[in-house]
Amino acid sequence: MSTEKRHFICVTCPIGCEIDVETRDGEIVSMSGNKCSKGEEFVLQELKEPMRTLTSTVRIKGARWAMLPVRTDNAIPKRLFPSVLAELAQVELEVPVKMSEVILSNVAGTGADVVATRSMDRSSNGQARRRRRATDVG
Ligand code: SF4
Repeated sequence: MSTEKRHFICVTCPIGCEIDVETRDGEIVSMSGNKCSKGEEFVLQELKEPMRTLTSTVRIKGARWAMLPVRTDNAIPKRLFPSVLAELAQVELEVPVKMSEVILSNVAGTGADVVATRSMDRSSNGQARRRRRATDVG
C-alpha cells in the first residue's frame, strides 16, 4: 500500500486554488483547498493526463513583426508539447493571416488545431505606423 501527498494549483479559473491531495494506491483519499468542484475535476485530470492550451509563435514573412502569436484551439496533453513545438518550428507563413485562421490541423495527432491569435498583413502594419506618427506629432 503506497500513500502519496501531492500539491496542485488549479488553473481552471483565475483564483488559482492551491489543492492538497493524498492518494493511496493511486486513489484519492483526501482533498482540500479547492473552492469548487471544478478543482476536483482538475486534479482528477492532472492525475490521469495533464492537459493545457499551448501558446507559442511561428515565423511569418512580409509582416512588420517576424513572429505571429498562435495557440491550440483546445487543451492538449502536456507531454506532447515538445512534438507540437517541433512542428511549429517548421512553419513559415506569409501575410496576410487572419485571426483564428488555422495554421496547423490536428497538430502532432492531438486532434487540436493551432490557430492565429491575431491578424497580420502589410496594410494594417502600415496603419499602425501612421497612427504612431500622428500620436508623436500630437
Ligand atoms: S477550484 Fe474552483 S475556484 Fe478554485 S481555481 Fe479551480 S475552478 Fe477556480
